[in-house]
Amino acid sequence: MAEKTHTIAVVGGGIAGLTLTLGLLHQKVPVTLYESASSFGEIGAGVAFGPNASRAMELIDPKIRQGFENRKTQNLWESKKSRWFDFRYGVGKKIGEGPEERVGELIVSLDTPPGRGTVHRAHFLDEMVALLPDGISRFGKRLVDLTDEGPEKGVVLRFADGTEARHIAVIGTDGIKSRTRELLLGEGHPAAKAFFSGKYAYRALIPMQKASELLGEELANNSQMYFGNHGHVLTFPIERGKTMNVVAFRSREKWENPEWVITVDKQTMQNDFKGWSQHVQNIIANVEKPNIWALFMHPPAPYYYKGRVCILGDAAHASTPHCGAGAGMAIEDSYVLSGLIGQETIDGDLEAAFKAYDAVRRERSQKLVVESKRQAEIYEFEVPEIGEDKESVAAIMRTRMSWIWDEDLPAEARLASELLQKFKAESGTARL
Ligand SMILES: Cc1cc2nc3c(=O)[nH]c(=O)nc-3n(C[C@H](O)[C@H](O)[C@H](O)COP(=O)(O)OP(=O)(O)OC[C@H]3O[C@@H](n4cnc5c(N)ncnc54)[C@H](O)[C@@H]3O)c2cc1C
Repeated sequence: MAEKTHTIAVVGGGIAGLTLTLGLLHQKVPVTLYESASSFGEIGAGVAFGPNASRAMELIDPKIRQGFENRKTQNLWESKKSRWFDFRYGVGKKIGEGPEERVGELIVSLDTPPGRGTVHRAHFLDEMVALLPDGISRFGKRLVDLTDEGPEKGVVLRFADGTEARHIAVIGTDGIKSRTRELLLGEGHPAAKAFFSGKYAYRALIPMQKASELLGEELANNSQMYFGNHGHVLTFPIERGKTMNVVAFRSREKWENPEWVITVDKQTMQNDFKGWSQHVQNIIANVEKPNIWALFMHPPAPYYYKGRVCILGDAAHASTPHCGAGAGMAIEDSYVLSGLIGQETIDGDLEAAFKAYDAVRRERSQKLVVESKRQAEIYEFEVPEIGEDKESVAAIMRTRMSWIWDEDLPAEARLASELLQKFKAESGTARL
């Protein structure tokens, strides 16, 4: 194997960029990570990883999985350790249909296969940053433009601070507003930018002691989801039970503000959940800084790479969060792509590696975008044939997540590897 003399540029240091960078380093592929902010950072909120995501971490590098295990929280009650969510009604009967006897009633309790856990985003990021060797990260580097000059010369990156860099290939992990995606698809391309999904969310962290007083220990200590008309609220413990994470969703037709995160007053937020169950209202009343996050999603990109430029994570397939699986998909992407690149010399056929990644990952990751939107419609009683009926909701929820959680990732990687060889043979770069 020829020496890997040049480096790959990874643009964006979120969960996608960091898992990819660590994966490439694990494969002994030299890499430079460019981040627009002045340091690595994640928001103060929780994130849940399904069994597929934690398996992907392990497969990329057991140290990433260990970092997750170091910080992971599960439901606090022993009997609910493997519980995904207890799904409950968060609203009473429809107005005019009688008293609120249904409020809080359990719809269904569903478990996950082993490996699920929740974590404070910033803490998970810290664990990964601790694994990065010195000297590979560059901060204050906002990518504004790219020119792919072909396999010999590589790709020139231009940053907002006026500097340039040349790399053998570029992988954009620059999130839902990805500049790399725009440049890859073309600025006017209909899939270049994300669109508003019709849902928005309030996010908050409530100290567990307070949450237990408000909700009782069972509901505060273990993942809960409250369904309502055009809204739902979920809670789960993070930080080993010190904190309860809250995400409260509502719907609106349009989002016209250029900002996607805005601050509203408490009354606006409380009005949004007027008439919901006392549990939900107690949660909402204890959100200290009400910020609304508009939830956007990507139209399906027709390809994830062109030449030596590739996209991964939210940059490739930003989804609404209703399956709790967007970051997990990014980690799966990182596993498959870092493995493929690891099989190539850096001067080898990276285009064939990108092509194999695109062939294996695009359909699955774009399916999440569609299924996640559908998931909210179920949670929010918007699917006419399911409606609010307990048995129908329970039946559909029992089957909806296995395609995400039970994925055979090594089989995906094997298929990707076979495709890599095929594509190399077709392009004449396969070694005899
Ligand atoms: C409310 C909510 C809840 C969610 N809950 C879950 C969950 O429970 N489980 C789950 O798996 N997923 C969840 N997700 C989805 C998950 O947050 C994302 O899929 C994931 O964080 C995407 O990571 P990323 O690294 O691709 O993008 P990002 O986290 O957006 O990172 C992109 C990085 O690129 C940098 N950057 C941006 N532009 C440039 C540029 N031009 N040049 C250089 N750097 C740049 C940014 O500063 C940032 O560091 C949720 C999402 C939301 C909105």
